[in-house]
Amino acid sequence: SDSGGWVELREPDVAVEEPSGPQPVVAVVGRPNVGKSTLVNRIIGRRQAVVEDVPGVTRDRVPYDAQWNGRAFTVVDTGGWEPDAKDRAAAIAAQAETAVVTADVVLFVVDAMVGSTDVDEAAVKMLRRSAKPVILVANKADNNSIEMEATSLWSLGLGEPFPVSALHGRGSGDLLDAILAALPEAPAIVENRPRGPRRVALVGRPNVGKSSLLNRFSGEERAVVDSVAGTTVDPVDSLVEIGGQTWQLVDTAGLRKRVGKASGTEYYASLRTAGAIEAAEVAVVLLDSSEPISEQDQRILSMVTESGRALVIAFNKWDLVDADRRYYLDKEIDRELRRIPWALRLNLSAMTGRAVDKLAPALNKALASWETRVPTAQLNQWLTALVQATPHPVRGGRAPRILFATQAGVAPPRFVLFTTGPLDAGYQRFVERKLREEFGYEGSPIEISVRPRK
Ligand code: GDP
Ligand code: GDP
Repeated sequence: SDSGGWVELREPDVAVEEPSGPQPVVAVVGRPNVGKSTLVNRIIGRRQAVVEDVPGVTRDRVPYDAQWNGRAFTVVDTGGWEPDAKDRAAAIAAQAETAVVTADVVLFVVDAMVGSTDVDEAAVKMLRRSAKPVILVANKADNNSIEMEATSLWSLGLGEPFPVSALHGRGSGDLLDAILAALPEAPAIVENRPRGPRRVALVGRPNVGKSSLLNRFSGEERAVVDSVAGTTVDPVDSLVEIGGQTWQLVDTAGLRKRVGKASGTEYYASLRTAGAIEAAEVAVVLLDSSEPISEQDQRILSMVTESGRALVIAFNKWDLVDADRRYYLDKEIDRELRRIPWALRLNLSAMTGRAVDKLAPALNKALASWETRVPTAQLNQWLTALVQATPHPVRGGRAPRILFATQAGVAPPRFVLFTTGPLDAGYQRFVERKLREEFGYEGSPIEISVRPRK
């Protein structure tokens, strides 16, 4: 039987996602009009995305998602300085600084039709002070003769110039190959693959009602358990149908055998809980609503948040909650669950069946949050407005700036903020709170790390 009852699995049949590091960053630097935004468009393979040039308006740093040959990276258009800027040297320095702080690889773009200028040479000086790899791009090499002339750009001392025509695409494949070769280990793009049932850990301290809830989802437990009695394999996981969907409940063996339960010490039980959470994508933590939230409940909740799994808190035995208990429970929730306001909560009763049908939608919602990916451009649009409205507080006359952010991964969503210095813990919490307000993530933890200038 493949639905309703139990199907025994010896091992999970779905690979656990490997956590991936942040995407490497490529910054595009060069004086105005050399074709930086045209090149960025070429690299990201779209035409509409890049901010239009408006005379007199300097583009700010704008990051975009890019990929080539199955590898993903972030490309940052560092904007330009005004050609008639009073202090041009300072403007060049600022742009180069941004690139150097944030990038793993710098693309330095020169206009091959013009050749190198004193402004280009000033920028090169800045770039060479950094230890970052720099790729010299000779843009506007629209034909063979310009391409030949571009070899004179060796004189800039940045190595071999890459002749490209960002406008027509000429040479861009070779350039992208060179970029990949210069990048640090880039995480491979995970292909969308057919997935098996989602893995759920059903956890909670003894007597909160785990077995009772499990029994709700299967009327055939006994029959299937009997059918595997006598096999030598101790079945660990179970497939059950919840809300018309098949789910893999991780390590439910102990729940099915009352014997095993009685023999487990608390230490053993907690190891087992940790193992189930680790093997799952989402955890349902059952609490007994008729009793105060205990330290043991808290320990189990911490196991889930520390493991980065999605979380649904089920307040079981809701049939026992009267107005009086409700009053105290609300107070306990305020006090004890304050650090996880994002967890999804359900009030249910395994005994009466109350709200049990809400479990599958809650699991799906938590998993969707857990796997949310925000496009880099959208993330930074939001972030730019946020830091403009509420900049980092000034400390000792200086305030670290957030240059931009990328989402480094999903499951759970992980973000990297590129900054000019460490952020206050309070400000980082503020960013996290605002990120949640904007993008949701109900039922999922999110991680934010800060990468200050080295
Ligand atoms: P940015 O200020 O460095 O970002 O430069 P833009 O990308 O805005 O390009 C400046 C001008 O150069 C635009 O008119 C582009 O169409 C043109 N341009 C960019 N790339 C090429 C190229 O490969 N060949 C030619 N002929 N023109 C280009
Ligand atoms: P486990 O140790 O977490 O697996 O908990 P059990 O499922 O064995 O339940 C412990 C006790 O709580 C049993 O006596 C159940 O009948 C009772 N119980 C479970 N769920 C509910 C519920 O929703 N309401 C009430 N009133 N009792 C429940």
